[in-house]
Amino acid sequence: IKIGVLKEQSPHEHRVSIDPEVVKRLTKSGKKVFIENSAGSDANFFDVDYTAVGAEIVDRKTALTTTDIVVMIDMPDDETLAALKDGQVVIGLFNSLTIPAKIEMLAKKNVSVISMELLPRTISRAQTMDVLSSQSSVAGYKAALIASDLYPKYFPMMITAAGTVKPAKVLVLGTGVAGLQAIGTAKRLGAIVSGYDVRPASRGEVESLGATFLTSSVANGAGNGGYARQLTAEEQAAQQKELADFIAQNDIVITTAQVPGHKPPLLVTDDSVTNAKPGTIFVDLAASELGGNVAGSQPFKTITTEQHVTIVGAGNLASQVSNSASQLFAKNILAVLNYIIDEDTVQFDLTDDVLKDLVATHKGDIVNPRLRKALD
Ligand code: NAD
Repeated sequence: IKIGVLKEQSPHEHRVSIDPEVVKRLTKSGKKVFIENSAGSDANFFDVDYTAVGAEIVDRKTALTTTDIVVMIDMPDDETLAALKDGQVVIGLFNSLTIPAKIEMLAKKNVSVISMELLPRTISRAQTMDVLSSQSSVAGYKAALIASDLYPKYFPMMITAAGTVKPAKVLVLGTGVAGLQAIGTAKRLGAIVSGYDVRPASRGEVESLGATFLTSSVANGAGNGGYARQLTAEEQAAQQKELADFIAQNDIVITTAQVPGHKPPLLVTDDSVTNAKPGTIFVDLAASELGGNVAGSQPFKTITTEQHVTIVGAGNLASQVSNSASQLFAKNILAVLNYIIDEDTVQFDLTDDVLKDLVATHKGDIVNPRLRKALD
């Protein structure tokens, strides 16, 4: 089996989908790995590191056209897609539900697409493949570091001969995978941390990290599969009101709230931004083209308001910890490769509970049911 690894094309993407450690494991089990020139260099994995473990460094065309499986992170440009061959497998984090027409075009070319965000996350044998968890965790860590970097004070309390400095107060809204890692990181830096979520089950996780859980007025915001549900308009208004008070008492607010299949909920309104203490820093991990958790946040942009409030629209924070994030991403990909490669053949058992969701297209058909629905 020949596996090609592409260099990412977006200027915001510094990760690589396969690291030298995973190449070592693949070559040891008889696979041939072709890495596009300097694919890993933004993540501190250099061509020599790959060749040292048996990979071949090639140009993009060779990585694309001479291989059975092509691995990447983001959806590449149309020129790359045009070069894919009949029967080839592509694996990446494509957010395929947002680009169903493109995925359908690949199905028509008889390219099998595995789109990592489609993984059914509650099946335990799929956990080693869960890139959403591995990358959210990295993003949550980085969010706390970005906040501490912008904050012109210490995070911990400092008692010195020159006086005492008060600790920073950090509020984390949305305490899933990213939020919990942001809480853990801010705690380790010495801040006073509180967390808020509409899923009552997250209380125990927040408290186990030594943070305070702020109880939501939403009766039970849990939806399916461990995720939150979409709130009603009344619930959302009540939530925005209660959050305004919590926000005004903190120095830093990190937001991570998402509801699968919907645009991110607005947790911090314009009024909450206006009424925040001057100097407050918001880091919005949910910032996207669709909007974010904080009014006015924009992905990849940092804004400072007239009231001296800073809003960081965090785009792709996992990419800013490119080495560790790539290492984890690669391990997730290795788990998928091991799942679909049997000896020297690629197998797609579409009756398997993991593959029937994870596979977007195979043999000319759209396989994932949510994607099929999106195309109806
Ligand atoms: P996510 O990225 O979809 O959302 C992040 C957080 O935002 C969640 O905790 C969610 O409850 C919260 N949120 C959504 N709307 C909100 C609102 N209006 N106000 C406040 N908070 C809001 O979720 P995620 O972090 O990927 O996962 C969430 C949870 O799912 C995890 O904590 C875990 O319990 C579960 N999960 C389970 C598995 C598994 O079983 N293998 C895998 C992944 C996640």
